[in-house]
Amino acid sequence: MTGRDRKMAPYIKAVRPGFEHMLAEMVELPSISMDPSRAADMRKTATLAVQVLKDAGAEARVIETSGYPVVEGGWTTGKHHPTILVYNHLDVQPAQEPEWKQAPFVFRKDRGLYHGRGATDDKGPALTALLAARYAIEQGQPINIRFLWELEEEIGSPHFAEALTQRTLVHKPDSVLVSDTIWIAKGRPAMPYGLRGALGVRLSLKTGRADAHSGVTGGAARNPLTELCALVDDCVDARSGRVKIPGFYDDVVPPTKKEIESFLASGFQVERFKQTYGFRSLRTQDPAQVLRRIWASPTFEVHGLVGGYVGPGVKMIVPGYAELKVSMRLVPNQKPEQIFRLFKRFLAERNPDVHMEVEGMLQPFKGSFSGPYADAARRAMKTGFGKEPALIREGGSIGAVTTMQRAWHVPIIFMGLSLPEHGYHAPNEYFDWGQASGGMKALAAYFEELAKMGK
Ligand SMILES: [Zn+2]
Repeated sequence: MTGRDRKMAPYIKAVRPGFEHMLAEMVELPSISMDPSRAADMRKTATLAVQVLKDAGAEARVIETSGYPVVEGGWTTGKHHPTILVYNHLDVQPAQEPEWKQAPFVFRKDRGLYHGRGATDDKGPALTALLAARYAIEQGQPINIRFLWELEEEIGSPHFAEALTQRTLVHKPDSVLVSDTIWIAKGRPAMPYGLRGALGVRLSLKTGRADAHSGVTGGAARNPLTELCALVDDCVDARSGRVKIPGFYDDVVPPTKKEIESFLASGFQVERFKQTYGFRSLRTQDPAQVLRRIWASPTFEVHGLVGGYVGPGVKMIVPGYAELKVSMRLVPNQKPEQIFRLFKRFLAERNPDVHMEVEGMLQPFKGSFSGPYADAARRAMKTGFGKEPALIREGGSIGAVTTMQRAWHVPIIFMGLSLPEHGYHAPNEYFDWGQASGGMKALAAYFEELAKMGK
């Protein structure tokens, strides 16, 4: 046991029943932001969150937006103390998967495991951070710790920027901590410092009033499904995944050798990756290649092709209309607006009749790999979990992160606590006491280091 362990152990033991009680209350509110029929539960979640913060001794309030509200709260101990803003979200994914072995919104404690939708994403980590902060404050650390708990993360944070513009309610911090990411393997902490961005586009093509008989019209009639398929082939090489839109890769910053080494140190295994997602084969078997592809390279993906006849058998028609749903994952320093312009120009050349509709843009994010905050976080993770974290990137996007970066231009550090087996966005989600107690130690150590660093 280290000195800190001895000091913090009684606190961690004492707060465990309270942690479990708070998590139970939160998990049992189905805060599914995607489902409009859950609006009342979203409101109850905001009210409960304020109560939870107040019960911990912090102040708290609901900040209204034109969507679901944001909960803000925390401790302000002094004007000259550094301020850290801790971001978590309290909305959850839907839970209709048939594989659930229990009712997803009934909290079930099974020794150190806490089952239920939202337990690991992101209610458990939110409460862990709160209790770590309370400890730092009780120890008299000269630091201001503020929380922002969002309720629209799972739908792309559409009103988060609006909440941040309420300057009287949310003040610019000196740094941000995000605890909403997954390790690659249990026992091996991981800290991402980069996220991919995204650009979603719907393409549609109307060539006729309705479906027409292919015997009577085929050969002369244009086929919108065929034309959209050709367009896909113009945009991407199906075998390699290489994007063929001119200029697409111009702003991509490739990962350094050191970054790739760090990716490989995360405990990632190609076979486990295949198993987790149920893949029969991949475009590559080389771990460095797989990691480069999922974390540090852009993609062009087709999600759906709609149109024509989809019933049993073959109905010989020429469709009059077809729609293609695509998105591109983007990496630093690609800009979704610029990629959209390139894509639009390319499409206009190839098929001017195709209509485009943007379905969402998210900026890629790259934080710092080194520097005082990253170094402090690395030491803190080691304090909490006994092992240096691997520095990795994530292939997904957290809309709120780039919003905070644009609003404040301060360092953003990710200290996630979820494990791959926790069922993130999947059935049978859970969180566990090992990650919670290690997380409390890690985050309390981080707050202490920031207090020492000063403003
Ligand atoms: Zn999350």
